[in-house]
Amino acid sequence: MHYPVLEIDLEKLRHNTEIELEFFHRHGIEIMGVNKVFNGIAETAAAVVRGGMKVVAESITANLKKLKDLPCEKALLRSPGLSEIEDVVRYADISLVSEIGTIEALSKEAVRQNRVHKILLMIDMGDIREGIWFEETEEIETAVKAVLELPGLALYGLGTNYGCYGTVLATEKNARDFVELARSLERKYSFRFPYLSGGNCSSYHLVEKGILPKEINHLRIGAQHIYGIEYVEGRYLDGYCHSGKEIEKYTSDAYILKAEIIELRRKPTVPVGELGMDSFMRTKTFSDRGVRKQAILSFGLQEVPCESIHPVDEDILVLGQTSNHTIIDVEDAEREYRLGDIVDFEVDYTALMLLCNSGIDKIFINQK
Ligand SMILES: *Cc1c(COP(=O)(O)O)cnc(C)c1O
Repeated sequence: MHYPVLEIDLEKLRHNTEIELEFFHRHGIEIMGVNKVFNGIAETAAAVVRGGMKVVAESITANLKKLKDLPCEKALLRSPGLSEIEDVVRYADISLVSEIGTIEALSKEAVRQNRVHKILLMIDMGDIREGIWFEETEEIETAVKAVLELPGLALYGLGTNYGCYGTVLATEKNARDFVELARSLERKYSFRFPYLSGGNCSSYHLVEKGILPKEINHLRIGAQHIYGIEYVEGRYLDGYCHSGKEIEKYTSDAYILKAEIIELRRKPTVPVGELGMDSFMRTKTFSDRGVRKQAILSFGLQEVPCESIHPVDEDILVLGQTSNHTIIDVEDAEREYRLGDIVDFEVDYTALMLLCNSGIDKIFINQK
């Protein structure tokens, strides 16, 4: 085998999904399983489906094509570009939409392909990313009417999103405002949204506390089964969460970056010579810790920043990186490291995303 590789434990992912679905179904909430961090890996999507997920979502249309044989519905988790409508209708059953022009294009193409495309109409409740602004009542009504009336379309639901761009927290208040908006549309046009899709895993704490309005019957969740349900408590930003008072990076042993030692030598901890800048035009200072045993691993910032990975061997100190090298201090390690040895790292959400988008090979374990 060539290294580095990213090892993915599919049984842990399946198990996490099962626990997550049990929890949300108990609260009357249906889940769309978000696979986007894996960038279209069919094995991870299949594991989530084995865990009971009925809909898998991706952010990139080409990734949906990779999942076309999976026995579940597929969703495009962002607005389709007008340039990709044909593939969206072909490979997605559902998409998140916030533009009337996109709704019209989807209708036309769905009719042409003799398919029904489901629309999750997105409302922006304040996070200033996607969605029709919640105060633009007329625009919202026009979009709802279009989805209800145009051929080839079905209304999947009304959706909103928090904590992605604007860092807006999901609260009982903005959830209630969202439900109120949905109910007033339903009263005006005498119909019912099948789903009110009230957010992502940052809404978990509201469900757990029992204060998410019961009208919200749908969430779109990725990180929670990817990292385990406890991940979300006090979620701060992608890949980070509060543990106690500290904001700590959350990693999981379901994903292990395995890298090979390509050089192992004793070296001084302070460079010798006149100092200028490193490969990224940064100046640096070094503290003298004497001569230490230092290993070089065959990956670098090109694949993943070392701030987003965590050595499984706690005695290893990560010193830094250049584009293609990661340098670690193994002086204090109990294990006697050798040239060619493999060093394991847990990875956070950011690292998982970057690694899945890098050329690094993925291997799957516990694939049932
Ligand atoms: C990424 C995303 C989600 C899922 O977010 P998680 O943090 O993985 O739960 C849900 N909805 C939308 C629109 C997204 O882009």
